Amino acid sequence: MQAYLDNAATTPLHPEVKKAMQAVMDEFGNPSSIHAWGRRSRILIEKARTAIAEQLGVAPGEIFFTSGGTEAINTAIYGAVVDRHVTTIITSPIEHKAVLKSVNRMQAIRPNVTVHYIRHQSDGTFDPAAVETLLKKSPRGRTLVALMHANNELGVLNDAAAIGALARQYDALYLCDTVQTLCHIPFQLPELGAHYAACSAHKFHGPKGVGFFYMSHAAKVKPLIWGGAQERGMRAGTENVMGIVGLHKAFEVGMEALRTDPEHILRLRTHLRDQIRTHIPEATVWEPRNGKILPTVLSVAFPLNEKTEMLQMRLDMEGVAVSAGSACTSGAAQRSHVLDALDAPADIVPIRFSFGNLTTLDDVNYAVAVLRKIMG
Ligand code: PLP
Repeated sequence: MQAYLDNAATTPLHPEVKKAMQAVMDEFGNPSSIHAWGRRSRILIEKARTAIAEQLGVAPGEIFFTSGGTEAINTAIYGAVVDRHVTTIITSPIEHKAVLKSVNRMQAIRPNVTVHYIRHQSDGTFDPAAVETLLKKSPRGRTLVALMHANNELGVLNDAAAIGALARQYDALYLCDTVQTLCHIPFQLPELGAHYAACSAHKFHGPKGVGFFYMSHAAKVKPLIWGGAQERGMRAGTENVMGIVGLHKAFEVGMEALRTDPEHILRLRTHLRDQIRTHIPEATVWEPRNGKILPTVLSVAFPLNEKTEMLQMRLDMEGVAVSAGSACTSGAAQRSHVLDALDAPADIVPIRFSFGNLTTLDDVNYAVAVLRKIMG
């Protein structure tokens, strides 16, 4: 048996997504061409844009297809600094590297850019009042708040609506990294008050290398990638038509699952959490004190000892896929920047279990059996 519990890193293609992509494999027309071949591809793209925009309560003209979350985030941060003359960025040390490295880059090329990092509680949460304190001392109309909707390693959910309201009150721009929350918790973009948001299809059973950038009409920036007039001049390069079709279908299936069985993933998470608490009491489940969690992620700290030293690898050998941090950091065999930023103790082994719509109770039970065997 095998159990794939690393869905926050990436998810398998949903069978319906695969079918939708296969059905358009022969649509090779360049969407910019005006002949019938091109028009057919163009229609597929615009259908996707309209459907996604409608689900999220925004205008189709505010959605721009990209290569994924990283590109969307880079576009927002670069554009905010270069085109909207932002000189202060409020962010957090536990953001995804797409945010942190972009912010570093902005500081390197624009020495007038000041960056303030939010201080977190040890559980990864922060009080939105901390954002207000920083906003009060930041220039109005020249500040970008870049704070994620949910943390990909810990599964901590931020109060994006409160942050968005503060950003508007203090005339700041707000980039909300929604890569881990889209199709995982129900919301519409206007509720968050964000000017910019990011989406990555492979986090919800869509294909890799495709996503979108949400940019509100009120906070336009210029493109990051220059060339042809694709995406209404906002993102040059011939569109990834098949990827966009896959994203559209994954979005549809994901949103439908949220409507029909919104508790599916939460039930799996709760079951695994309870099983770990019962059978492996020495492990600590990462639960923010305010109870606001992303249901797709269960982060667990195991005490460092001879059984857990190689825990991720031992689970892998038994067919259980988990992560020991984020995908990028785990490859580099170094402690994640998130745990460092929270001053997590050195003698823990962090394991992230993450779930998707295709995860089953059998997967979770198998992982529990393997964990008990290793830890027993
Ligand atoms: N932001 C968060 C919170 C993520 O988890 C990820 C992916 O791991 C990204 C951004 C980057 O998305 P992509 O893989 O589409 O570039």
